[in-house]
Amino acid sequence: MGNIGAERFLPAELNLPALADAARRCQGCDLYRNATQTVFGEGVPDARFMLVGEQPGDQEDRRGAPFVGPAGRMLDRALEEAGIDREAVYLTNAVKHFKFEPRGGRRIHQRPTAAEIGACRPWLEAEMLLVDPDVTIVMGATAARALLGPSFRVTRHRGEPVPRRDGAYYVATIHPSAILRAPDRDTAYAGFLADLRAAAAIT
Ligand code: SF4
Repeated sequence: MGNIGAERFLPAELNLPALADAARRCQGCDLYRNATQTVFGEGVPDARFMLVGEQPGDQEDRRGAPFVGPAGRMLDRALEEAGIDREAVYLTNAVKHFKFEPRGGRRIHQRPTAAEIGACRPWLEAEMLLVDPDVTIVMGATAARALLGPSFRVTRHRGEPVPRRDGAYYVATIHPSAILRAPDRDTAYAGFLADLRAAAAIT
């Protein structure tokens, strides 16, 4: 089908349950073909903190919920240490279907293309509009591309408040799955936690 985009699949009435329901039928790019299901955002509708990752992983794809796999457990730990209540945030991904390559019985994560990120962006924009968080924590290069543009460099600007609108900010950091892949996990985790603390300190 190619990347026709998610726009035409958005519901007429914009609210989070209607969005999540409509997203189950999205065919805005080819990623719906091989994934098990759409994994839409979840959480508090008027959350102060919104966290945006890349895409669902293997376990998220099977269970239909964001951040329930190993990266999600890493995120849970960091949120707790940063004093951000996971039950009081809204969690989502820039791309709502799992992109993978089958290899030896396993499903290996593949980074979404710029076209796939663009195709899926209407869902993320609608979530941003409805939740309208004070602080949006942008985790990893894919989420940064979707929300901050292709020239934004997470490594250069991580932990810095970037104005979104009057009184609302983005704070970019690495994706928690990058901690799992890092040669020095402790250092990677400490950096991630420092960025979350910087986000939590925004008043
Ligand atoms: S990845 Fe996004 S745009 Fe593509 S089919 Fe899934 S929900 Fe639609």
